[in-house]
Amino acid sequence: MDMNVKTLGILGAGQLGRMLAIAAAARGIKAHIFAPDAKGSPAAEIAHSFTQADYDDETALAEFASQIDAVTSEFENVPASTMRFLAGHVPASPGHKALHIAQNRLREKHLARSVGIATPKFWAITSAETLVAALSELDGKAILKTTEQGYDGKGQMQVTAETDAKVAWQALNTHEAILESFVDFAFEISVLVWRDADGLMGCFPLAQNQHKSGILHQTIAPAPDADEMLARQAEQAACAIAEAVDLFGVMAMEAFVSHSGEVIFNEIAPRPHNSFHWTIEGCITSQFTQAVRIALQQGAGLCSAIGRYKMENLLGEDMARLDEISQQADSALHLYGKAEARDGRKMGHVTTRLSG
Ligand code: AMP
Repeated sequence: MDMNVKTLGILGAGQLGRMLAIAAAARGIKAHIFAPDAKGSPAAEIAHSFTQADYDDETALAEFASQIDAVTSEFENVPASTMRFLAGHVPASPGHKALHIAQNRLREKHLARSVGIATPKFWAITSAETLVAALSELDGKAILKTTEQGYDGKGQMQVTAETDAKVAWQALNTHEAILESFVDFAFEISVLVWRDADGLMGCFPLAQNQHKSGILHQTIAPAPDADEMLARQAEQAACAIAEAVDLFGVMAMEAFVSHSGEVIFNEIAPRPHNSFHWTIEGCITSQFTQAVRIALQQGAGLCSAIGRYKMENLLGEDMARLDEISQQADSALHLYGKAEARDGRKMGHVTTRLSG
């Protein structure tokens, strides 16, 4: 009997690609990584094969497409045009519209509002003058963020009405930014929504997140401070966005929860997300397995939690404790195979079961 082994193409070569490739391998699926920096990367190191080429190299993309059964992306800044090109050859997840929206903070927030989800008050900033005008309307603190390419707290700064707009605008060094009022949140959550080729949707249990210096520090899930009403509100919001961006795959929505229990949209990432790494141990189907299943149209898996889990990120500065961490009997250690441990760089994570 011919087993017809499938190959999943993965755009991007970081730790999310690595964990997607591992989930694929567990189902007998080969992973083929495509990225400009594929060689020696966390993902290519454990994948079946890789292509090192630019995302706009259509010759390399066509060759890649001829070698795979479906493609997914681990990285939301892959050009939407790359996704559109590949979609002409193979099923392509998460789809070009999801990427296009997620690549720009203003587009994300406008979309969230258009489907009735609350956002922080925000202003589009394109010059020192527009920043002066926005700052004059400010009531308290705000965060100025580049609309594109920012991640893990990079490309953002706190400002107030007293901030020198000219200095702040120059320091941000961009052509377009968003000024967001500072949300005095009770806690932060994220939802991971999945949507298949037929439009069938569902959500993983809610995650509760703590950030340090703009980087995710710890997730506890299912979220201990969320009641049923909050969970339904957050899931409905994530599903509304998934439909609006025509999601094919998995997508995280990060949000603030106000002191009155309202979900306030922050951002989306149409890919597996750091705050759902606990699903590897904590759910029947992990976020990575779900992404693989949906991309290859193998039917979505059940994603209920089998207990409550804590996931902690291991950054470069935590590597000094690695010996101690790797010997803990009650936790699952994941390292991403990165040779250089820089401060703030995500090197791995540890998941511990809390109850259940
Ligand atoms: P972001 O890159 O937009 O996800 O921001 C990283 C983290 O900074 C968030 O998870 C929050 O902890 C904090 N943050 C970002 N935007 C806001 C905001 N408008 N109000 C309060 N905290 C924020």
